[in-house]
Amino acid sequence: MDSSKSVLVVSAHAADFVWRAGGTIALYAQRGYRVRILCLSYGERGESERLWRQPGMTLDCVKTSRHAESERAAGILGAEIRFFDSGDYPLRLTDETVYEMVVEYRKYQPEFVLTHSFKDPYNYDHLDANDLTLRTLVYAQAAGYPAKGKKLGAPPVFLFEPHQSEQCEFKPQVLLDITPVFDIKRKAMESMEAQEHLWEYYTDLSRRRGSQAVRNSGRKEIKHAEAFQRVYPQVTSELA
Ligand SMILES: [Zn+2]
Repeated sequence: MDSSKSVLVVSAHAADFVWRAGGTIALYAQRGYRVRILCLSYGERGESERLWRQPGMTLDCVKTSRHAESERAAGILGAEIRFFDSGDYPLRLTDETVYEMVVEYRKYQPEFVLTHSFKDPYNYDHLDANDLTLRTLVYAQAAGYPAKGKKLGAPPVFLFEPHQSEQCEFKPQVLLDITPVFDIKRKAMESMEAQEHLWEYYTDLSRRRGSQAVRNSGRKEIKHAEAFQRVYPQVTSELA
């Protein structure tokens, strides 16, 4: 347990962090890390189909509902969450959003960062989230950027698995064993009632990545895993 260590997770929409990195978040929260989720948009237009099917639904109602669901899911995973409410379809990232991201990096000095993949032809907000995360990470490293706080070191960035990874040219370079916390991830997924159709999809995916983790490590006890792609080279003194 080391409560001085933190992790930043940048999620374009209210539920992205749950499907794509819920296990990782729960695992590091259990290890005593402060896991902070930065949620750019509620996904009120693009990722709230079930809510919009209810008669008389309004944009404010969808946002309120997604806010509550997302906050509940973060709580189940043991993380804290900040909402930027930057709009949806389109997501609008302003100079203020950029500044606030740099402040987040400098204040929390994360051990590592999680965000979306470089490509996703199904949702361009995911690309904006990727671009914002990486761009502001570089700004936070620049001594001359005018934001308060100590300049950022060089935390590794891991891109979480998109919904249709082949279409997004996603490479599963890192498989993290989430077996001990899978039940927590499942509970968090089930708290996202607007997207019930994804519960089984992401349970199946974690089993598939789990069996690939066994094949690549010989560790037969792994049942569930989450896949990530690295942005920067891994720096190490050991190759085995
Ligand atoms: Zn999304």
